[in-house]
Amino acid sequence: DTNTHTGGAERELARRDGSVSLAVRDIHLAFGSNRVLRGVNLDVPRGGTACVIGPSGSGKSTLLRTINRLIEPDRGDVLLDGRSVLGDDPDALRRRIGMVFQQFNLFPHLSVLRNIVLPLRKIRRLPPDEAEALARAQLELVGLAGKADARPGQLSGGQQQRVAIARALALRPQVMLFDEATSALDPELVKGVLGLMADLSAAGMTMVVVTHEMGFARQVADTVAFMDRGVVLEAGAPTAVFERPEHPRLRRFLAQVL
Ligand code: ADP
Ligand code: MG
Repeated sequence: DTNTHTGGAERELARRDGSVSLAVRDIHLAFGSNRVLRGVNLDVPRGGTACVIGPSGSGKSTLLRTINRLIEPDRGDVLLDGRSVLGDDPDALRRRIGMVFQQFNLFPHLSVLRNIVLPLRKIRRLPPDEAEALARAQLELVGLAGKADARPGQLSGGQQQRVAIARALALRPQVMLFDEATSALDPELVKGVLGLMADLSAAGMTMVVVTHEMGFARQVADTVAFMDRGVVLEAGAPTAVFERPEHPRLRRFLAQVL
């Protein structure tokens, strides 16, 4: 039921034409003396899904944050459709690159509907009635039309994450970034959110997914990138990375998590 969740029928998503949509080029970033990113490279094909795996503290979240410019890298570049985004206005960029966080980051004092309307007004600058209609349509697509007037705190974690995903999708981004979107969820709620993400991937959204869900990475990813200590140590098709890992550190990591 791809289209019910993602609106694939309603929108033009990227065609998989073999070209690179998002390219991370030799990104370096240090927090003081802590060199967190030490030359990261990553290519995400148009309409493709890249899963980023790796131990805690290896720089995965920091990488996502440099991609949508919540943090500025010290060196390197991020290209979207072949053009550097590092000179762009960060707000304009956040319209093109959506992000979903582990902790949902919804506004607790606003209704579910208002949470989606707000960025449509502020970032897409839609008039109120149009923003509300679009927010309701997007909520319906993630199966939460009945929760429009609820506060986030009245929803389950899985429902809150669906709202966060709907909020990001409503902006019609070219690329979606997911940072451990299911790590804060109770186990029985994980499957629904992963299913929504898999539907979105199948519908042709270009995505970078940081995840500990190896089953998801294996089934959904076009590319799996293994990060360790601030670099992508190994990247490739899921079958190569999971079944024929070359680097000893990747082998050790997989032995621990699989
Ligand atoms: P991961 O997501 O792979 O667990 P992170 O990107 O969160 O890793 O963190 C990588 C390293 O960067 C860690 O050593 C962490 O302490 C450090 N770090 C992350 N964000 C900041 C920050 N804002 N200020 C200082 N150090 C940070
Ligand atoms: Mg992280």
